Amino acid sequence: MNFGDTIKKEILSKIIKENHCKKAFIAGIIRGTGALYEKDGELGLEFSVADEMTAMFITNVFRTLFRYEVREMSVSEDRLNKKDKFTLNISGERTIEILIELEILIERKGDIELNLDMYGQMTKRDCCLRAFIRGLFVAVGGCTIPQKKDTTTGYHLELVFSHYTPALKTSEKLAEHNVLTKITKRRDSYIVYIKSAEEIKDFIAFLPAPVAVLKLTDFMINRELKNRSNRQKNCDIANVNKQVEASARQLEAIEKISSTIGLETLKDDLRRTAVARKENPDLTLGELAEELKISKSCLNHRLRKLIVIAEEL
Ligand SMILES: [Zn+2]
Repeated sequence: MNFGDTIKKEILSKIIKENHCKKAFIAGIIRGTGALYEKDGELGLEFSVADEMTAMFITNVFRTLFRYEVREMSVSEDRLNKKDKFTLNISGERTIEILIELEILIERKGDIELNLDMYGQMTKRDCCLRAFIRGLFVAVGGCTIPQKKDTTTGYHLELVFSHYTPALKTSEKLAEHNVLTKITKRRDSYIVYIKSAEEIKDFIAFLPAPVAVLKLTDFMINRELKNRSNRQKNCDIANVNKQVEASARQLEAIEKISSTIGLETLKDDLRRTAVARKENPDLTLGELAEELKISKSCLNHRLRKLIVIAEEL
């Protein structure tokens, strides 16, 4: 079940108040999906998002932050996910100025370079680091939780990067805030991921997306209750099976005694037990003990004795 969209919708439903956080959020999105290009000697940046809601959110932030109109380039079908993909574009004379503001580019001794420090000045404040990670998640994040009836698939949250270093830096940054992730390679991508439900909750709480945290907690509790009741059922069935087996063994022994030396050769108490068991094959040990007006352990003892006698015949 796709839970990533639930988290993303919550992120996008909230207005980012502070300008520093707005910048960090946009920087996170661009770090996730942006690609710089050069056309006719001019620098441009292209990045894509999964849906119109995200595209509009970003366009609005650019408007308030930079008084800049992001161009919506195209809506194309993402062949891999069979979903629409909105490609946005920043170009023109203000491109460099804006990308320096977003710390994607850096000016060094008069030269403009790509800023390789993903977690620099931009994410120094705690509020901005969270906004940056929210941007990353909206851009390259995903989360699935098990289907209601499915017990085979588990919890999974991921951030997909095209290079190892940003994946590693992100994983390290999250670890500093007690959000534990692992890294793996999938085709040409590096995946920062979490498999434990509790740790996924830590990640979502860090963003923060509190409604999604509550929803996930609720889901986990329901699932745990259901699993527990299934385990209980399995346990009951196992018990019944054990009883049936034991009863069958006793009946077999009684049958053997009856057809060889005869039940009348047994001592009085054993004979009465054998007859009672034969006549009531479905009774539990407790019920049969009650029937014979003896204790359960006494009955157990007698039944075992019958089996021993039969084995010696
Ligand atoms: Zn901030």
